[in-house]
Amino acid sequence: MSKSSATELFPNTSTVVKVAVPVPLARSFDYACESAPACGVRVKVPFGNRSLVGFSLGEASESKSDYQLKPLTAVLDETPLLPQPVWELLQWAADYYHHPLGEVLNHGLPVLLRQGEAASYKTTEGFRVTAAGAEIELNSLRQAPQQQRLLAALRNGPLLRRDITAQEFSASALKALQDKGLIEGFQHAPQTNADWSFAIGSEPLQLNPEQALAVAAIGAASKPQTYLLEGVTGSGKTEVYLQAMADVLRKGKQVLVLVPEIGLTPQTLRRFQKRFAVPIVMLHSALTDRERLDAWLDAKNGGAAIVIGTRSAIFTPFKRLGMIIVDEEHDGSLKQQEGFRYHARDLAVVRGQKEQVSVILGSATPSLESINNVAQKRYAHLQLTQRAGGAKLARQTVVDIKQLPLKAGLSQPLIEQMRKELERGQQVLVFLNRRGYAPALLCHECGWLAQCRRCDAYYTVHQRQQMLQCHHCGDQQRLPRQCFDCGSTQLVGRGTGTEQLEQSLAELFPDYPVLRIDRDSTRRKGSLAKLLTDATENKYPILVGTQMIAKGHHFPHVTLVALLDVDGALYSSDFRAAERLGQLITQVAGRAGRASAPGTVVLQTHHPEHDLLQDLIHNGYAAFARSLLRERQLTQLPPFTQMALFRTEANDAEQAQLALQAIAAQLPQHPDVIVLGPMPAVMERRAGRYRFQLLVQCQQRGLRQQVLQHTLAKLEQIPELRRVRWSLDVDPQDFS
Ligand code: ADP
Ligand code: ZN
Ligand code: ZN
Repeated sequence: MSKSSATELFPNTSTVVKVAVPVPLARSFDYACESAPACGVRVKVPFGNRSLVGFSLGEASESKSDYQLKPLTAVLDETPLLPQPVWELLQWAADYYHHPLGEVLNHGLPVLLRQGEAASYKTTEGFRVTAAGAEIELNSLRQAPQQQRLLAALRNGPLLRRDITAQEFSASALKALQDKGLIEGFQHAPQTNADWSFAIGSEPLQLNPEQALAVAAIGAASKPQTYLLEGVTGSGKTEVYLQAMADVLRKGKQVLVLVPEIGLTPQTLRRFQKRFAVPIVMLHSALTDRERLDAWLDAKNGGAAIVIGTRSAIFTPFKRLGMIIVDEEHDGSLKQQEGFRYHARDLAVVRGQKEQVSVILGSATPSLESINNVAQKRYAHLQLTQRAGGAKLARQTVVDIKQLPLKAGLSQPLIEQMRKELERGQQVLVFLNRRGYAPALLCHECGWLAQCRRCDAYYTVHQRQQMLQCHHCGDQQRLPRQCFDCGSTQLVGRGTGTEQLEQSLAELFPDYPVLRIDRDSTRRKGSLAKLLTDATENKYPILVGTQMIAKGHHFPHVTLVALLDVDGALYSSDFRAAERLGQLITQVAGRAGRASAPGTVVLQTHHPEHDLLQDLIHNGYAAFARSLLRERQLTQLPPFTQMALFRTEANDAEQAQLALQAIAAQLPQHPDVIVLGPMPAVMERRAGRYRFQLLVQCQQRGLRQQVLQHTLAKLEQIPELRRVRWSLDVDPQDFS
């Protein structure tokens, strides 16, 4: 620290630089320096008693000489780190989502770059034999057996220092050989994928007319566009992506592909890898920080032809970006729900416009937002209405379970139907979106329910582990033997989870092995891929799963899909519940009948006459979604109004509420602005904190932008906000 105080005393640091620092404050900070680093260069700065990595925003125009500025600690890059389009995208996002720029910029980077690491591949030290070392008699080293063995090993080829250590050669043997001039060190740079040329790995499929039309439309477009590729499940959307990409790759340009969850789509990924003999980078969660940085550099330097990743991959820099594909564009995982809350699909569209590249949004069940953008002519529409390869869409049926006895959630008609399929050698998939044994523990004598100590929620019973688990805060307890209220030992699980369903199915169908796929059964690394393969290959005639199995995976032998409980969503308070239910049913149904045998879908419900279900079953998702969209217009809900949601959380309910009242008081009065709340969140208490919400609804996007800007500018001065955790969610997707 003596160095920095010296510069403060003798300021040759006459220039002031503005820095975006990763802290939750919506402004930049000034630092002193000799000459301001260019805008976009990373710098290290003292902040409070910490040292942080921020971005230079260039020289400050007005200097504030009324107080002593601290100097920069270090300048980390020679030139701006991010290419201009990504820099602009992040600025745009900070503005649109009203999130502090420093945090947004930080979020866009791989961890090592956030920590100040150089933006370069890491070279590692390697060793090889010299001419002398190649000639010398190995026997002459017999007095030093370690050296003798190491020299012999290196004669077979150079080794990295870490591999030498791994083979348990001592550092002294290495040094001795080096001192004798028998070996020498060198700097080894890893494969950087610096160059590639387009090559096909396997031949493309012969397109059907609808696919051909889609690929041709994308290829023939005179200028970049956003497309909604709306194709029923199994219609061959992936083949359209592949052939549209081929045109782009052939010109030497790169392609970014966003997928919901990498582990859930191994089949699709393998198709990309098989089709193109070009470097493909996958950004998945098992990468080390170093591997992630190398992948980032490959994209930035142009070495990666294709980058496939989940939502945060939208910030990857490219040297020659040519196209962006967002697969399953309706999927909730594209929205970041914590911290910097952005929607990767929406940013993909913005990025496409900024970089002048086409964006393909694909789904069998598009979001109402995207359908509306087609109606407004903002996106071009490409449709695939038929399944590729001749398979038929599954027939959808409803079983009215009112007054029917259920065994682990299964009705007798369903059990009979399953038996028929199984006896014909077919595969059956049972969908239940609740993991664990039972969603609650009930005292049969007094009615007591085991409630989480920290949440407004019941514990889930996990029988195998003999545990109660809260799926909202993670709290765990041993399964009690007695009721906490009356002491009775008559404790029973209420309702059915996948663990119980698996057990009951094994009892009902002892001759047919059951495979369960949910977060509990796939906890070990790599086990998900194995279970998915086993399921695909029909090693298990009965599959049980949660929404994990609803995402894009194909089970060719499945001819019967059953959804046990869809009623919850029919009467939900969330205005998106119907849309999500339609997507879920359609996606799960789409797993059936991929091969030649036609499939059947069975929906169990207490409300077979419900308009939504009827509409979906008889008219299909496309028509269903368009009638939902008309309803949204009548009720003035998104995408016809623009929402923003303030949330607060505190140990004390009143403080959480007061903070929102203080925010509400700052909101300008305007006839086109509706403010709802403060109101408690659907789950008022979670993990011991009380949660409240304030909803702001504006007629136009521009108006919302102004309202939020005006309001946020005043919030730093509001004392009530200092006592709570608060956040702002622009275009909120989730109100739970
Ligand atoms: P989606 O992504 O629309 O659900 P896929 O792209 O996975 O559908 O295609 C479903 C199946 O149809 C895949 O097995 C794929 O190989 C096959 N398929 C796609 N296009 C064709 C085609 N033109 N001819 C024959 N089979 C095709
Ligand atoms: Zn009791
Ligand atoms: Zn809890």
